Order: sequence, then structure tokens, then C-alpha cells
Amino acid sequence: MTNNQSNIIYLATNNAHKTEEFTSLARGELKFVTTKELSLNTGKPISWDETGTTFPENAKIKADVLASITRAPVLADDSGLMVDVLDGEPGVYSSSYGGVEGDAIRNMNKLIETLRKLPPQRFPAKFVCCLWYREGEAFTQSFTGECHGEIVLTPRGQQGFGYDPIFLVKGSNKTLAEFTIEEKNQVSHRRQAFSQWLEWWKKRS
Ligand code: IMP
Repeated sequence: MTNNQSNIIYLATNNAHKTEEFTSLARGELKFVTTKELSLNTGKPISWDETGTTFPENAKIKADVLASITRAPVLADDSGLMVDVLDGEPGVYSSSYGGVEGDAIRNMNKLIETLRKLPPQRFPAKFVCCLWYREGEAFTQSFTGECHGEIVLTPRGQQGFGYDPIFLVKGSNKTLAEFTIEEKNQVSHRRQAFSQWLEWWKKRS
């Protein structure tokens, strides 16, 4: 961090679980102001339409909306699950795959039902996280992280969020929902993207 660089970063997400993971990843080095906090401060609800068809497009949409309000450094996360046998679905539509935005149980059930209709096999998959950083009018940069594993058709574990209970981490016999937040933060797609961003952010002048 340079001397005159603020450690306050506006976080463009409405997902409390993502915020918790970022806060744990930052280990007290950064102060995140969430979209929710900002909208409470300004008295104006903040929302965006995720009209992009890729993770970077949607992350950019979120970053641009928040940057237009704060005029301060903004970090946006767009992420999702890509299943090989479904040609990358649910992908950017992960949060509404089951028909109701943000309903994790419906999303998981729809995925389990869809995969159960296929011949029995393993279901390789990956989580992808794209972080889009924006500072001022012109300065933007994106970072992508991936976490590889496979889908299991019986949910396991209580931690995490979203599809974590059915995502078996490669090289482990546990789902992400059986990981503690610290364990998840060692292997996750969000961790991979965040580490790249943090290294770049600290070095730049
Ligand atoms: P977004 O908020 O539009 O980026 O959508 C993200 C969606 O992808 C979430 O609602 C989850 O369904 C899924 N997702 C992203 N990251 C994770 C994760 O770390 N664990 C489980 N599900 C995730």
C-alpha cells in the first residue's frame, strides 16, 4: 500500500456470505464498506441488472454502479458454478437457477434433479470468481479465480452458502460446506481471485 492509499474499499455485493469471506480474507488489512451500508448511509437503495453473459461483464456492471455513487475504490464480485456435463451451466445464472433469485435450496435441488436424469457418472465442476476493481473514471482491472471439484448428489455440511453442500473439493473428501470458513478461504475461487487482486493492489503506485 502506498502512503496516501486508503485502505477503504467499497464492496459491490449484496451477498452477506461473500462479504464475510472477503472480510476474513483481508485479515484486518482493509476496511470494506458494503453496498448495504452505503445504501443505508445515502438513504438510496442500490441495485443493478446483471444483463451480462459472462462473469467479467456482470462484475463490471456492479463495479460501475457502485463507483458512480461512491467515486471511491470499488471491488465487485461476480461468481458462479460451472458443471462440465451441462456445458458450464448454471454459470452466470447460478443465483437464480432454481427459478427464485438467491434461493440456494431451490438452486441445489434443480441441479441435483438435472444431474440425476443423466446416466450415473462423476460430475466435474468448478466455481469461478471474477473480481472487477474500479478506481475513478478510467482505472479498472479484473482478476479471475477458480476452484475445481465435482458435484455430489447428496448435500453434506452446514457451513458456507449456495452450492457449497454439493461441491466436493478436488483432492479432498469434503464438500465446501464441510470446510470451515478458514479452510474454504485457502482453496476457494474467491481466494484465488482476491490474492491476485491484493498482490497487485499493494504493489501498484
Ligand atoms: P452473483 O451474486 O450474481 O455473483 O451470484 C453468485 C451465485 O453463485 C451465488 O448465489 C451462488 O449460487 C453461487 N456461488 C458463488 N460463489 C459461491 C460459493 O463460494 N459457494 C457456493 N455458491 C457460490
